[in-house]
Amino acid sequence: MSSTWQQQLKQALNNQKHPDFLHQHPQHSTAAAALFSHVIAPDMFDAIDQKNPQDPILKQFLPVADETINTPGFHADPVDDNQATQVAGLIHKYHGRVLLIASGSCAVNCRYCFRRHFPYTKSYAPRNNWRASIEYIKAHKDIHEVILSGGDPLTLETTKLQQLTAALAPVEHVKTLRIHSRIPVVLSQRIDQEFLHWSRQLKLNKVMVLHVNHANELTNKAQAAITKLKQAGYTLLNQSVILKGVNDTATVLAQLSQQLFESGVLPYYLHQFDQVQNAAHFMVDEATSQKIHQDLQSLLPGYLVPKLVKEVAGEKNKTQISL
Ligand SMILES: *Cc1c(COP(=O)(O)O)cnc(C)c1O
Ligand code: SF4
Repeated sequence: MSSTWQQQLKQALNNQKHPDFLHQHPQHSTAAAALFSHVIAPDMFDAIDQKNPQDPILKQFLPVADETINTPGFHADPVDDNQATQVAGLIHKYHGRVLLIASGSCAVNCRYCFRRHFPYTKSYAPRNNWRASIEYIKAHKDIHEVILSGGDPLTLETTKLQQLTAALAPVEHVKTLRIHSRIPVVLSQRIDQEFLHWSRQLKLNKVMVLHVNHANELTNKAQAAITKLKQAGYTLLNQSVILKGVNDTATVLAQLSQQLFESGVLPYYLHQFDQVQNAAHFMVDEATSQKIHQDLQSLLPGYLVPKLVKEVAGEKNKTQISL
């Protein structure tokens, strides 16, 4: 019998079923895994080309010695989210939208994650049946979109998501639910009947923003999960981060955009790397990112070019930095 998504998630979080080639990889660093644990969900195992030491998926998920380096100018909270937190786990930084930290964990620990130092135990929106967040949203009539982020919100049970949407259903000013998740691609089994059923009955507009950095992540399983989400009524978008050695060429990013489009997903944002401590080896400088983005524009129709953005503390929106 195949395992449930809950079992798969638990195994990923406890580092139980990682194949030998990952544990025994010559670049695997125990010290790096101690700083930010080694978590990778099963759909990604087969997507890694074991013969390629530069594999773009491996690089995103393998703890390596470079992470133990402290680099001046890199920070624990590069986007200053701690400043913008209104109630525990709720960030109201941009007009009309609130972002809820819906979970402290993910099905993969991306080594470059800008939340790797985030104080999740303090900031966690589902606490007390989401009560503080629901009260805040009710009291602010200008909020029309609720964004579930994290961590990965799809690590939550569907019943937990249901609790939130049931409480928000009578709140007329909330029109749209948006989910930021990497899970449809890395743990596709999570997109199960229960989740799809809950999704279909929502009276809200539904948006899911995936996080795919390289076309190799779009496995057959991922594509099947994406198709189900589309059929359940989600508008599907993607955000990527420019990462050195993973996707820092226009050709690789163009392939990603085309493959996303084939799967029914439109590119949304391409993020300039946030200067998060212990991940400086992924950094592509801004001028280089801008050049890559310019080349990307010359390769693709406009609707397949993601916006190149960065997060500037105190700004009212993500800042476009394209040339
Ligand atoms: C990125 C982000 C959003 C969403 O911004 P969009 O431009 O609408 O995608 C909302 N709140 C916070 C705190 C964010 O970081
Ligand atoms: S899925 Fe997102 S939040 Fe989770 S580790 Fe990766 S980048 Fe960070």
